Amino acid sequence: MPKTEEEKGFVEIVDGRYKISGKFHIIEKNQPIFDKDNNVLAGVTNPRDMTYIHSYGGEAPFFESLSKGKLLATRCDNEKCDSKGSIFEPFRIYCPDCLQRNTVVDITEKARTKATIHSFIITHRSGAFNTLPKPIQFINVEFDKEVSTILMSILAVGEPDIGKRVVPIFNTKNPTYTILDLRFVLENTPESELPEGFTF
Ligand SMILES: [Zn+2]
Repeated sequence: MPKTEEEKGFVEIVDGRYKISGKFHIIEKNQPIFDKDNNVLAGVTNPRDMTYIHSYGGEAPFFESLSKGKLLATRCDNEKCDSKGSIFEPFRIYCPDCLQRNTVVDITEKARTKATIHSFIITHRSGAFNTLPKPIQFINVEFDKEVSTILMSILAVGEPDIGKRVVPIFNTKNPTYTILDLRFVLENTPESELPEGFTF
């Protein structure tokens, strides 16, 4: 059942400290499990509702940028590192080769002009808490030679195929501040076909 405002948990940071308000743990009445064949008790359900506080830490700029229609990545700028100049998307706070802190870079334009489908998989059945429309078209997005990684995302509009050009879309109208605010569509998809809340 959707929660009322009084049943939700809220968090803000004030003066460098987490301030929480509202409810973070809700217990509901349990239910018995009866064995109908033998008319005996077999167990009980255990409903528990918990709100988890997930801190993004150094990845926070990535998620915030999605809400503004921008795709941020990171790059190793360490002169002494063999991977200098490598761009990482997904966003890596530290370079995996030299462990120095990476530089944040904007790759929105690169994604708009260079992104292609490296591979894909179509999923007709999903796990618990799925909010995506099914079937889900998972794609592995390849950018260019500067980007040394492949990004897992979903193709929201169009039929996936290896090598097809895709462009990013962003949930800028009602952002969730999660990875679900970033999706891809085939190149030349009209704006009118984008999912609700999404823009190029
Ligand atoms: Zn490095």
